[in-house]
Amino acid sequence: MGVFVIRRRFSSFQALVRFVFPAVFLFVMLSGCVYDGGSSAAASLLPVPGSEQPAENPGLNKEAGRNLPADLPSRAKNTVLIADLLKKEPVSRGVLCLVNRENPVRGDLIPESLESVLDNSGKPLIPAKTLDVKINRAALEAARAMFEDAEKEGLKGLIISSAYRSYALQKYFYDKKVEYYRGNHGPEEAVKLASMIVAPPGASEHQTGLAIDLTTAGLLKTGNHLSQSFAETPEGKWIGQNSWKYGFIVRYPEDKVDLTGIIYEPWHIRYVGIPHAELINKLGYCLEEYLEHIRLKSPILFTSHSGERYQILYYDSSYHWNACAVIPGNFRVWDITPYGRNGYIITLKLN
Ligand SMILES: [Zn+2]
Repeated sequence: MGVFVIRRRFSSFQALVRFVFPAVFLFVMLSGCVYDGGSSAAASLLPVPGSEQPAENPGLNKEAGRNLPADLPSRAKNTVLIADLLKKEPVSRGVLCLVNRENPVRGDLIPESLESVLDNSGKPLIPAKTLDVKINRAALEAARAMFEDAEKEGLKGLIISSAYRSYALQKYFYDKKVEYYRGNHGPEEAVKLASMIVAPPGASEHQTGLAIDLTTAGLLKTGNHLSQSFAETPEGKWIGQNSWKYGFIVRYPEDKVDLTGIIYEPWHIRYVGIPHAELINKLGYCLEEYLEHIRLKSPILFTSHSGERYQILYYDSSYHWNACAVIPGNFRVWDITPYGRNGYIITLKLN
């Protein structure tokens, strides 16, 4: 018995030496993913860059629209360490950030790239209900293009009702709604009903500056400017059909209430950028479903309706340190959004 065990161990070890080690070596060489930043032995002991848990829900765009060098270090042809991609400064950051009750943002989070809807001379760049409206820079640019095109098609009534909201302002709206329901319901029921309509503080994507509530001049006159009847107005119909072309999604669709936890809000659009808005529209998903879709189907290659090519990757930082991506041709890192506990969604724009 003892001999048998020793012989078996010996033969397993022999097999390891003869077949497994060479195979692993060959695989590493062929994969083109050998770490070349100094000593490989030391490098393999290092944590994966970015393996620490994402500090917070990003929501925070650093600099959108910045031009970046396209050439990142590559190992074999078209092969790049994902850890290297994560070190690069993307064009935008956090454009896909998921903010909901399960994924709140910090109370003191103020996005970096907020822009006023007013130009330097105090003139509104885009019709807005109040002059203090602020929006994420990329979302504002996209919204301006969208409003212009809507106007060209004769839809002149679109107005931004609100966009960026601070934690404190969200808390004020939420507390007011809970108070309203407490008139006729118990405390728990009041909280449940209120949070279906007004996201609790920290759980509102308005705090990222990427969400916009729309209304029309006509609805403003009714006194109920945020109403589901927005979907029946010519402007609301146009937004439902065309906003994806500008990088927006209707964030809380009628048939996704169970998944979003928020009532149907045809007026609330969320900037996710092209190509994500186009893909989300094509797939018929809400953001929660779409992010899971990326996680499961990564890598995704996508050509937008205007012919731009993208590769969308999901990377879990608990993967092996030398995980790599095969990228067809030149590219630049378009967006990096932390997703889940250890993950990232990396969007590359291919040249
Ligand atoms: Zn909203």
